[in-house]
Amino acid sequence: MPINLTILGSGSAVPILGRGVTAQHLNINERRILIDCGEGTQLQMRKFRVKFQRIQYIFISHLHGDHFLGLFGLISSMSLLGRTTKLKIFGPEGLEEIVRHQFKLSQVYLSYELEFEVIDCKEKTLVFEDNSIEIYAFPLKHRVKCHGFLFQEKPRPPKMDKAKIQKYKLTLEEILAARRGEDIVRADETLPNLDVTHGVEKCQSYAYCTDTRFVEKLPAWIDGASLLYHEATFTKTHTDRAKATGHSTAEDAANIAKLAKVDQLILGHFSSRYKDTEGLKSEAKAVFDNVKCAEDGDVYLV
Ligand SMILES: [Zn+2]
Ligand SMILES: [Zn+2]
Repeated sequence: MPINLTILGSGSAVPILGRGVTAQHLNINERRILIDCGEGTQLQMRKFRVKFQRIQYIFISHLHGDHFLGLFGLISSMSLLGRTTKLKIFGPEGLEEIVRHQFKLSQVYLSYELEFEVIDCKEKTLVFEDNSIEIYAFPLKHRVKCHGFLFQEKPRPPKMDKAKIQKYKLTLEEILAARRGEDIVRADETLPNLDVTHGVEKCQSYAYCTDTRFVEKLPAWIDGASLLYHEATFTKTHTDRAKATGHSTAEDAANIAKLAKVDQLILGHFSSRYKDTEGLKSEAKAVFDNVKCAEDGDVYLV
């Protein structure tokens, strides 16, 4: 399972009992990433057994409080508990200033290094890569500058079909060629790659899109994602409110999922005006069938 996503907070604006504000923990190919960090995130991590000292990267979508006010407490606790490994935070312009200013005024000297990288893009942009994953950012449409993220596995070499190794008596050079995706060319025959391997597996990906109006380019940017989290703050009976506050309806989210041909849609960032999520879910389901409403503590495996 390359992707393990834990919903730490699925609400919007104000934390309420049973529904925290936005935060998620993503483990993709053993890279531990926190996405947004609303107030109370560190307690949610304890509750849902996410080890916060193992987090390597934090991605902050925008500077509304329900997406980053938990950062100060989390960064501080990591230091009090003796963290020594560097923590890298990706987020909008101004985030570093706010965080550093807070610790400067309270004369706190952290036990580890904090590194910031500003995210500010007008198109889909690669913001991080290592040998097994890529992370892209793209602009959303909200009241302040806001970005979505696509976390994606890099293609892995095809696995060998062991029976075929014996059948064709493949040499080491031939196996290495097959693992590079090449056909095996011999003097007297050519063995197509798919004949000796199990083929290239689909690269799994996770798209995170919160706090946004409908974005026309979004389906192209997250095309074919395995899993999509899209905010659905309102139902379409509150479309005016959604437009005025820079948010989406459940139907908007489902339209994005359908146009992007994702495998699964998770709705979240619900307005606390809704006592349950049934109305949001059925509105989305009319457009896109494979949909779930996020609850705090939910785990999605891909
Ligand atoms: Zn929000
Ligand atoms: Zn917002």
